[in-house]
Amino acid sequence: MRNTKKKGIYIHIPFCKSKCIYCDFCSVVPVGDITDRYVTALKNEALRYKRTEKIKADTVYFGGGTPSFIGAERLADILSTVKDVFSIDSDAEITAECNPSSCNEEFFIKLKESGFNRISLGLQSTSETERKAIGRLTSASQAKKAVAQALTASFNNISLDLMLGLPNQTKDSLKESIDFCAEAGVTHISAYILKAEEGTPFFDRLRKEGADSLNLPDEDSVCDLYLFAADYLETKGFKQYEISNFAKDGFASRHNLKYWNADEYIGLGASAHSFFEGKRFYNTRNIDDYLTGSEPLYDGNGGDFEEYAMLRLRLTDGIKKDETEQRFGKGNFERILKNAERLNSPDLIIISDTCISLTKQGFLLSNTLIAELLS
Ligand code: SF4
Repeated sequence: MRNTKKKGIYIHIPFCKSKCIYCDFCSVVPVGDITDRYVTALKNEALRYKRTEKIKADTVYFGGGTPSFIGAERLADILSTVKDVFSIDSDAEITAECNPSSCNEEFFIKLKESGFNRISLGLQSTSETERKAIGRLTSASQAKKAVAQALTASFNNISLDLMLGLPNQTKDSLKESIDFCAEAGVTHISAYILKAEEGTPFFDRLRKEGADSLNLPDEDSVCDLYLFAADYLETKGFKQYEISNFAKDGFASRHNLKYWNADEYIGLGASAHSFFEGKRFYNTRNIDDYLTGSEPLYDGNGGDFEEYAMLRLRLTDGIKKDETEQRFGKGNFERILKNAERLNSPDLIIISDTCISLTKQGFLLSNTLIAELLS
């Protein structure tokens, strides 16, 4: 049966001013005319989805890399092609990830005029020592200025990114960062735990010099920081809705919820993943290959119950019986329920006859718990 639910459109912009030491995203510092050639390739890829009856979408998300780094004109140009190819809802959520160092008032005004209505800004921490330790160049005052400029340009849906488990981070410094976000007037906060990904300079340094030399908090302290952040954000009106995401009422990211609900989306650009017409596929991470038009790589069929359950258990809403039965038939919810009852861990798993979800403590062990629940 054809999936008629509206899609999300993801657009990857793989350019940054410099490379952060912990980053394993597909991003490079651009040289020559690569940015303009990339925009052309992106638009050509979008055009492949042009149909007589346009594909309907209700979210568009420009991620990266640093989308703001290529400037408002290019972002508006890409969005205009996306709007031409797809049927985008008039109230669609349209997000651009931005770095405060590549934004100004004019940039936000231009973005707003071209149809963007949500901004996601990278802050990571208000502590200069913590930010410098991971190679972030932006200052807290630049972030504050960027939020104020976005608000002046009438963006009323702004997200800030924080990081947990940074070198030198303490509960007090994290509290300061959260207070900063709450006072800045944003509606959404993402708070990700710093991970050492293989192949990054951060990973190599950690292996050579050890965690102590970097003043990294130990595993228990990182768990404490996470639980503190989740509780403290709640007191500031940011309700947790996903392992790492918190929002004021009505401001959960509609685009990202598509991933966690196992709904379909189309990814454009180098390294972008898609789940479309029941199939998962992705583009090469190699930007030169992408520019020469390499074909997407097939990644299997998507959308089965296991995948849905794994994704939904990241949400505080968890798995609901009625939704599961509607989508996958009877018996699946009961299987998870039986395993949840066997685990008998009320500190980690919340069980009712109609819903199963993880607690904040449970989120810290989500990989293990989800595997157990699906066994
Ligand atoms: S700004 Fe973001 S995408 Fe760019 S290098 Fe840093 S972490 Fe990676």
